[in-house]
Amino acid sequence: MAFSLTWLPDVLKAAGLKVALVEGWETRGRGEMGKVRGVICHHTAGSRNGNMPTLGILIKGRSDLPGPLAQLGLGRDGTWYVIAAGRCNHAGKGNWQGITTGNSNLVGVEAENTGSTKDFPWPAVQMDAYRRGVAAILNHVGKGPEFCCGHREYALPKGRKDDPLFDMAAFRDSVAAILNGTAGPPPLIPAAEPPRPNGQAGRITLRRGMTHPLVKELQARLGVDQAGVFGPRTEAAVRAFQRDQGMLPDGIVGPKTWAALDAPPQQQPVPVGPPPVVKEIDESPRVLATPVAPAAPAPPPAGGITLAEAHDVLADVTAAHPTADWDERLTLAVQRTLGALYLLNPNDDVDGDAGPRTRGAWALFAADARLAGGGGAIDPVGTRRLIDASKNPAAFIGAPIVQLLPDFEFRRAKRTVNQQRSVEALIQAATAQKLTKPQIAYILATAEHESDRFATLEEYASGAAYEGRADLGNTQPGDGRLYKGRGYVQLTGRNNYRAYGTRTGIRILELPYILMNWASLSVYVIVDGMMRGAYTGRRLDQFVNKDQQDFRNARRVVNGLDQADKIAAQAQAWLARL
Ligand SMILES: [Zn+2]
Repeated sequence: MAFSLTWLPDVLKAAGLKVALVEGWETRGRGEMGKVRGVICHHTAGSRNGNMPTLGILIKGRSDLPGPLAQLGLGRDGTWYVIAAGRCNHAGKGNWQGITTGNSNLVGVEAENTGSTKDFPWPAVQMDAYRRGVAAILNHVGKGPEFCCGHREYALPKGRKDDPLFDMAAFRDSVAAILNGTAGPPPLIPAAEPPRPNGQAGRITLRRGMTHPLVKELQARLGVDQAGVFGPRTEAAVRAFQRDQGMLPDGIVGPKTWAALDAPPQQQPVPVGPPPVVKEIDESPRVLATPVAPAAPAPPPAGGITLAEAHDVLADVTAAHPTADWDERLTLAVQRTLGALYLLNPNDDVDGDAGPRTRGAWALFAADARLAGGGGAIDPVGTRRLIDASKNPAAFIGAPIVQLLPDFEFRRAKRTVNQQRSVEALIQAATAQKLTKPQIAYILATAEHESDRFATLEEYASGAAYEGRADLGNTQPGDGRLYKGRGYVQLTGRNNYRAYGTRTGIRILELPYILMNWASLSVYVIVDGMMRGAYTGRRLDQFVNKDQQDFRNARRVVNGLDQADKIAAQAQAWLARL
């Protein structure tokens, strides 16, 4: 059963903070928590590398102290990790404001920092998130700033703890300002560099979770694997680079870090990577530091409109435009930005035609962003939200907390090229999970069958047939259509979407269209789900293992024995080709 602090994610999200749910958080705890009367701020004293390297220890505990060790972790990039909804072992003996039962009455926040003076000051983005998150929690429980303390202030005997190193009195002043509404806006890193003197747009700010063409270039400069996804390793390399340059190691590549990357190296050897190539840069075109001659013209952007152009069109909207009246320019701009959020297929759906698919995606965005009018029109408030969200998609759709492959195009009805790309990605993901060839063959057969031979990642039926299916968790009106089959395995039903939202960190429960427009996310869902038995409780290795290769009954991993023989034959065919 869930413990009582299940409000934590909503409260943090409502404060505009980035939140990642750690699987199992709702039922994690050392029993139930008492009444929340405040917050204790800690630092992890963990490793110098990574965004939240201590997360595993906070969940499981140490040999001398069983976990969980805090309800919340705070990453270096300001992401709040929700670890537990119950009581945690973080406080020990102490006293603050007369409260001596810290574990029962004070929420513990473990912020990632080594606790060394060399790791000081903390990244501004992390400190800002720390203050805002603590303020949001205090506000929720009806307490003032005096009810947050540092562990070193709480712990007895005095001197037992030294965390955190920053000035708690100043921290409480800032929390007070946030609670009073007198704090300024958060110190945002600009979404992109300023435009170049020649009028070209500047490079966008890159951060963890992004899959932008510039990521590969960044990876080449840093000498890390050019996987194209800004994952933990790239982030660690960015931090190391920033430290070497004497910059704040926040792991985010904003204008200052781009400039530092451009600067000619001093003494240090340049990491040798493959030479940068101009390819598929469909936004923020820029001059490469190493000229490539002859310069190949970049392919035209999807739908003939760059994201920057789409932002300009949206910024010009001064009044409400009902969806029925959108002109082609406005429609293209909305489609381009919704494509950047995977609410539309960036390749198929940016066509200037405001059809049902576009209006549906806009309505979903508008409802999620709580825009007035619920998506019947677009107005300057709505365009602003769309611009902001598409400039930093991870803040809106969530940042992956699992390793995803670089994204690739999956276009409606383009079977041949879809199959080639999909099979390659599915094999890569399954091989990384150490699946055997027969197991991989069965996953390929399932994907082939469920995607109508790689023609679609969206079930053709409307989904109305799933309405009210309690076994799928479809308890709300409209759930049938909203949670119809999507992805390579045709993930279906509110329960499955919730489970995969939690597991991946991507908000597919709230924004289910993402799953059919983000092919590599869909690859993760089918491989992980079949391997772990997420859909029916049956795992692939129960039927396909070293002792047997029961391709017929393996269908039970996904859907009873529906078309079991046909898919078994397809699996045999794939196995012969692997
Ligand atoms: Zn502590």
